[in-house]
Amino acid sequence: MPWSFDYLIVGAGFAGMTIAERLVSTKGARVLIVERRNHIGGNAHDHYDDAGVLIHRYGPHYFRTNAPRIRAYLSKFTDWTPVDYTIKSFTRDRYWNFPVNLNTFEQLIGRPATSGEFVDWLEQNKVSIENPRNSEEIILSQVGHELYELFFKGYTLKQWKRHPRDLDASVCGRIPIRTNRDDRYLKEEFQALPSAGYHRIFERMAQAMGENVKILLNTDYREVLPHVQFDHMVYTGPIDAYFDFAHGKLPYRSLRFEFESFEGKDLADRESVSGKPGFWQPAMQVNYPDESVPWTRIVEIKHATGQQCLPTTIVREFPEDFGAGKEPYYPVPNAESAAVYKKYKEMADALPNVSFIGRLATYRYYNMDQVVGMALAEADKLQSREI
Ligand code: FAD
Ligand code: UDP
Repeated sequence: MPWSFDYLIVGAGFAGMTIAERLVSTKGARVLIVERRNHIGGNAHDHYDDAGVLIHRYGPHYFRTNAPRIRAYLSKFTDWTPVDYTIKSFTRDRYWNFPVNLNTFEQLIGRPATSGEFVDWLEQNKVSIENPRNSEEIILSQVGHELYELFFKGYTLKQWKRHPRDLDASVCGRIPIRTNRDDRYLKEEFQALPSAGYHRIFERMAQAMGENVKILLNTDYREVLPHVQFDHMVYTGPIDAYFDFAHGKLPYRSLRFEFESFEGKDLADRESVSGKPGFWQPAMQVNYPDESVPWTRIVEIKHATGQQCLPTTIVREFPEDFGAGKEPYYPVPNAESAAVYKKYKEMADALPNVSFIGRLATYRYYNMDQVVGMALAEADKLQSREI
């Protein structure tokens, strides 16, 4: 006798967990969530490491949003700790304020300056490009060659193994450029971390679903297909894999994370660098744009979580090609991949009983809030259908 559910949900990240919770809570649906990894939460998963430090397992996840509905929805599952996410860039043997702002300009010219001076400098240096079509053009059009070479070119080459001109303008265009002293990394109105961590959000979502949800971890959905009956599938994995790569493989970038923990006593000689006891580096994230350095950034998330503990943990991110045994962390936003994705999207649109949502299933470089928004919208759509 096969298991029977209203919905089969593939993937327990923000997309899968949000839509599952909505379908259960508003419709009383019975859902099965199947997750390949050994935990819920997808790439937003966090946990305490062996040193007792709360870490983000798959790279730093800075929550931010401009959307009241998304914030209100997630607030059912968490309180928030406001964070001004500030980072640094390390190049030419020194730390720089980043993203580019008036402080960065002063560091560049080696003396105090006014906002007006920086605006004039930008006017003289930026390249006139009416409609920037790629990541090189968008940065050149905003700050010119010197700052582009200093902060963007090498980082982007390392991260994507592609020239910035072979990436959509949206990739580098998401980094703000400011002429005042606001050096927060992000632009959105609401910037905060879940007070008890991301994992607690997912646990509470699961609790809210109670007996209407069954979550299978360590399982590829294809293993369960012969054993379950369901009316509708919500798929949040890579879209090309769903269709057995019928139109060829979509490109993704992967990462290798190297964690390193330090006991409080080992951090004394780092204080001159970090500026405060108990920390290894001067900010929650330091970017390394130089091509001679193999990692793109070092994250010390304790700066942002505000965890009070003596040890600390840093993580170096090494960009890698995607392949067997690697996670498809980043879709690659450019014209070539968009053309391939379009073919998969047509196939997806022809399947009325499967929804494709989330970063991998829609092949979009989406932040967490955008993925939650997409899941809420899809839940609305499904709720209005009779199953
Ligand atoms: P995922 O979190 O990828 O979840 C999909 C799940 O599906 C995975 O757990 C996967 O194991 C599972 N799955 C796939 N295939 C199968 C299968 N065949 N069977 C069973 N399960 C399957 N966003 C922000 O807002 N702020 C940030 O600071 C931020 N930083 C990021 C840093 C990094 C390094 C990365 C990679 C992403 C970052 N993001 C950030 C983006 C954020 O991770 C995503 O927007 C969000 O997690 C996407 O949720 P999702 O559910 O679509 O996908
Ligand atoms: N970027 C860069 N230099 C930096 C930071 C970012 O060139 O110091 C570019 C790079 O191409 C990167 C993109 O801007 O992939 C987006 O950066 P973000 O930090 O938002 O990336 P994510 O956190 O999504 O990896």
